[in-house]
Amino acid sequence: MSLTAETTDYIVVGSGCTGAIAAQTLVEAGAKVLMLDVGKQDNKYKPLIPDKDFLTIRETDQQQYRYLLGENFEAIPWGNIKTGTHLTPPRQFMLDLVDRYLQVDSENFSPLESLAYGGLGNGWGVGCYVFSKPELEKIGLDKIKMMSAYKTVSARIGISGAKDDASPYTIGELDNYQAEFEIDANAKSIYKRYLKKKQTLNKKDFFLGKPALAILTKDLGERKKIAYNDMEFYSDRDQSAYRPWITVEELKKHPNFTYISDSLVTEFTENSDRVRVKAINTNTNEKVSYTSKKLLLASGVLGTARIVLRSFQSEDKQLPLLCNPYGYIPCLQPTMLGREIERHKMGFAQLSLFHDPNQQNFDIAMASIYSYRSLMLFRLIKESPLNFVDGRIFMKYFLSGIVVMGIHHPETSSNGKYLHLNRSETAITGDKLKINYQLSDLEKQTITQKENDYIWAMQTLGCYALKRVNPGYGSSIHYAGTLPFNEQNTAYTLAPTGRLNGTHSVYVADGSGFKYLPAKGLTFSLMANAHLVAESALTE
Ligand SMILES: Cc1cc2nc3c(=O)[nH]c(=O)nc-3n(C[C@H](O)[C@H](O)[C@H](O)COP(=O)(O)OP(=O)(O)OC[C@H]3O[C@@H](n4cnc5c(N)ncnc54)[C@H](O)[C@@H]3O)c2cc1C
Repeated sequence: MSLTAETTDYIVVGSGCTGAIAAQTLVEAGAKVLMLDVGKQDNKYKPLIPDKDFLTIRETDQQQYRYLLGENFEAIPWGNIKTGTHLTPPRQFMLDLVDRYLQVDSENFSPLESLAYGGLGNGWGVGCYVFSKPELEKIGLDKIKMMSAYKTVSARIGISGAKDDASPYTIGELDNYQAEFEIDANAKSIYKRYLKKKQTLNKKDFFLGKPALAILTKDLGERKKIAYNDMEFYSDRDQSAYRPWITVEELKKHPNFTYISDSLVTEFTENSDRVRVKAINTNTNEKVSYTSKKLLLASGVLGTARIVLRSFQSEDKQLPLLCNPYGYIPCLQPTMLGREIERHKMGFAQLSLFHDPNQQNFDIAMASIYSYRSLMLFRLIKESPLNFVDGRIFMKYFLSGIVVMGIHHPETSSNGKYLHLNRSETAITGDKLKINYQLSDLEKQTITQKENDYIWAMQTLGCYALKRVNPGYGSSIHYAGTLPFNEQNTAYTLAPTGRLNGTHSVYVADGSGFKYLPAKGLTFSLMANAHLVAESALTE
């Protein structure tokens, strides 16, 4: 059965970081906005999690196994480490319905996509980075407009940052950020050693400091400042970490805004003054359509590629794909072994270590340094060669000295990285995204060399690498570049305003236009760009 429903000024597809920010800009300008989303939510674990810190929960809550280990042992990854194995049980709803509606066929690329209310932003590590001028130029973005957009987004979501050796790479010229957050004992010890060894490290182009994070150190509206209870990857109770659903909940109070969940947008068609959006109701499988003056796609880079390729009926059309190569290296800081586990700490990245060989804030590598506890505990015990009881005792002693370094590398487009849409009889949508991702030998060598450099830097900081873990291509969860910005009116590209070339009313607010991916996390820049795209859609 096919239904024709709502008509509105603007349709925004997706409630993730980009959809939420774009919709907010439209609504604040007085536009009538309809957000279409699949919008899965967690109703299972959320009510079970007490408002207590991780250690108190471990000591007192009889129900803890249900959300820490998961009722189906979701916290213990079986088989190889792959993209998304670090999602906690209360975040696994982010993956609901993905196998059903977002089918991928690939031998060498394993993406993480989400059909959740708030998208991947339910699980993001909240790392925010202002891109430098040369980085923005290579991406295809305007530096002056982006600086102003970064400030707008920072005021909306709340970012805490610090002035230190890393700030040119983190907050850059941003001036409206909150006071820095507290780091834990592991990170303090590393930072102290950095100050002693600074000259040696700087001479080799390494710079260490605190990351800028979308967490509050001061209350913002109804959101509370961080409580350092180390439960940030399990619960959003105090809303101290920014999640896009927080923005959408605010928008729902506005008469100009309508949110419709359970709607999987499949394609659009345009006529002279309207765009028609077709969707499937994911509960009933009914086909529904909506019309609006303008459409903003914010369905995640891979999701948007599907919608655009279907709408242009372009099977076999290859689109380029960018994804930061990523790997991590667990390290041991021997001076911290056997220390008492802290109660007052948080789970996000504690420090950022940048390697900038040209000293131009361009084509740098970035490592985030975590002292995982709540997130990794069960996995580490499982990986231990000892039996569970001995492993648990051993880990109690060992855990205080474990540091995990996640390294992101910059990413440029090349022939071996692309996707296209294949017909599929078995898929509900009738198609699968076929992805091929191969790095050149030179890219692989550069990554290995960079990891060696980082292992040296960590050793200088008193941390010794235990092993290298390669979670496979796609695991950075930073995707971009499928519809690259282009000032000519070329098909399958975006105008600098975010308008899809070849259309007059379809805009793309996610990272599809980015022609380059710096190693720094992209999401703050995605949100700033989404704000600018929404402004263009209002005025063009
Ligand atoms: C564990 C983890 C840690 C991360 N850490 C960081 C970090 O520290 N820093 C950083 O910069 N980035 C980080 N990221 C990446 C960051 O989460 C993403 O870049 C960002 O959330 C992407 O936002 P988006 O709005 O473009 O897309 P998404 O979050 O993918 O949102 C897409 C939205 O569209 C909806 N949707 C999709 N297809 C359709 C359709 N056909 N019809 C209707 N609705 C649809 C979905 O329901 C969803 O609401 C991390 C990601 C993860 C998972």
